[in-house]
Amino acid sequence: MEGTQPATNQPNDPWLIVGQGLAGTCLAWEFLRRGVPFRIADRGRGGSSRVAAGMVNPITGKNFQPSWRIGEFHPSAISFYQRIEEILGAPLWHPMPILRLASSEKERDKISSKLALPEVAPWIDQRTALAPPGFLAAFGVSGGGWLDTAGYISRSRAHFESLGLYAEETCESAPKQILCQGAAGLIAGGLGDHRCAKGEILTLRADWQQSHIRIGAGGWLVPIGDGLFRVGSTYEWDQLDESPTPAGLERVRQIATKLGGADFKVVAHVAGIRPILRRSEPLIGKDGNGNWAFNGLGSKGTLYAPGMAVMLADWILLEKAPHPDFIISTTS
Ligand SMILES: Cc1cc2nc3c(=O)[nH]c(=O)nc-3n(C[C@H](O)[C@H](O)[C@H](O)COP(=O)(O)OP(=O)(O)OC[C@H]3O[C@@H](n4cnc5c(N)ncnc54)[C@H](O)[C@@H]3O)c2cc1C
Repeated sequence: MEGTQPATNQPNDPWLIVGQGLAGTCLAWEFLRRGVPFRIADRGRGGSSRVAAGMVNPITGKNFQPSWRIGEFHPSAISFYQRIEEILGAPLWHPMPILRLASSEKERDKISSKLALPEVAPWIDQRTALAPPGFLAAFGVSGGGWLDTAGYISRSRAHFESLGLYAEETCESAPKQILCQGAAGLIAGGLGDHRCAKGEILTLRADWQQSHIRIGAGGWLVPIGDGLFRVGSTYEWDQLDESPTPAGLERVRQIATKLGGADFKVVAHVAGIRPILRRSEPLIGKDGNGNWAFNGLGSKGTLYAPGMAVMLADWILLEKAPHPDFIISTTS
C-alpha cells in the first residue's frame, strides 16, 4: 500500500477493512457487534484462510509447549466462534480431542516429562490412549478442534453482503483503512521483515477412525466428517506462491500414510502462505504508511484472530493500547 496517505480519524467516515481472511472477518464481526460503521473488501481469491485446516491445538511442536498465551486466547476464540455460529445458524467450530503421537523413545520421554508441568497439565486428557500402529505412545490433549474456516469466511461474507457492508473494490486512498491482508500484505512490504511460509494440504477420503485429530510424524490429520480428512502440511520459505506442487503432494501423502494408513484417495490438494512476522506472534498497530494493520497470525490464526480483533477494536475505538508484545514495530 505504498503511497497511500496516513489514516486520519474522521468520525463520520466508515472504516474500510481490507482483506477478509480470518483477521478481517473477526474484526468485521467485532465492529458489527459494537455498532461501528465499516465496510469490508476482499479480492476474492487466494489467502491462507481459504485453505487452512482451522485446527486448534493447545500444546504444540516438538517441545510439546502450550501455545503462546493460550489461557487468554483459547476461551475467547471458542466463545467468539460459538456466537457467530448462532448468528449464522451454521456449525463452524467442531470440538475434537487430539491424540499426540510419539514415534521414538526420545519423543515419548520428552512429552512424558512435561505432562505434570502446571502450564501443560490442564490440557492433558488423562484417559489412556492406545497408540496406533507405527507409534510408540499416544497422549490425549483436550481443548482441541477445528474451525470450518472456508465456511466461516464464505458465510460471513454472505452476511456482510446482505447488510450492504461489502465494498466492491479496495479504495487505496480511503482515509480510515485497516489492512488485514495476510501474507500478500507482508510480501508487499509495509510491516518490515517477515518469515512467511508456504504450506500444502490434502483432503482425503478414507475409511479411518474419525474420533480424534492425530498429530505426529511431522504432520496432522483432521477428520472433517463424511469419511473425509484434511492432512498436512509442508513448510517452504523460498517459493512463496499458492500453487500446489508434486513434491508437496508426495510429502503430505507420506504424512497421511503414517498417521492414517495407505488406503486413501486424494480428493483435493491446495496451497497457501502463512503470514509470519517477528516471533511468529500476531501483531496489530500502524504500518510504515500510518495505516492500521492486523497481521502475523502465522500457523495459528484460528486461535488468535478473535482475541486480537477485540484488542484492535479496543485500541482503535477506545484508545486502549494493548501490551507492547502485541504491537507492530516497523523498525524490527
Ligand atoms: C496449509 C496451511 C494450513 C493451515 N492450517 C491451519 C490450522 O490448522 N489452524 C490454524 O489456526 N491456522 C492454520 N493455518 C494458518 C492460517 O491459515 C492463517 O493464520 C490465517 O488464515 C491468516 O489469516 P489472515 O486473515 O491474516 O490472512 P489471509 O487468510 O491470507 O487473508 C487475507 C485476505 O486479504 C485479501 N487481500 C490481500 N490484499 C488485498 C487487497 N489489496 N485488496 C483486497 N483484498 C486483499 C486476500 O485475498 C485474503 O483473502 C494454515 C495455513 C496454511 C497455509
